[in-house]
Amino acid sequence: MKMHTACHLLSVVCPYPITGAAVNIDNSRVDFDLSLATITKEETTEKLMALVNANHPVYTKWISETELDSDPSIIKSQNVRPPRGLEKIRLVCIGENACIDSQPCGGTHVTETAEVGKIHIRKIEKKGKENRRFRLQFGDTI
Ligand SMILES: [Zn+2]
Repeated sequence: MKMHTACHLLSVVCPYPITGAAVNIDNSRVDFDLSLATITKEETTEKLMALVNANHPVYTKWISETELDSDPSIIKSQNVRPPRGLEKIRLVCIGENACIDSQPCGGTHVTETAEVGKIHIRKIEKKGKENRRFRLQFGDTI
């Protein structure tokens, strides 16, 4: 739950299309379609911890496809497309009134971002010209 929630936070501080991900108990990786070489693990870690320390509420909300179609901005993470053909879509919201993020997700999450605890980007690997692999790990930065 903690690591999965941390991946949501990573998609907030790193708002690029996600091309792949693998979530494990104490570490995970997320691949982004990203060619910028300017993004560093230090600043990404700093932004992540700012979200954790701010202790934003995490909650779910069900919306209908009609509601979504009338206001597509409900989904803030544009890189996550909701499944279609379902009557209801489960949104995971972070922050008061989803001010930080909202995206369709059926997974389990913590209820406040502070529960994620200390987390850092261990490594950003270059995987191809326009792909960056972010390795996320619990604990203090080494
Ligand atoms: Zn989720």
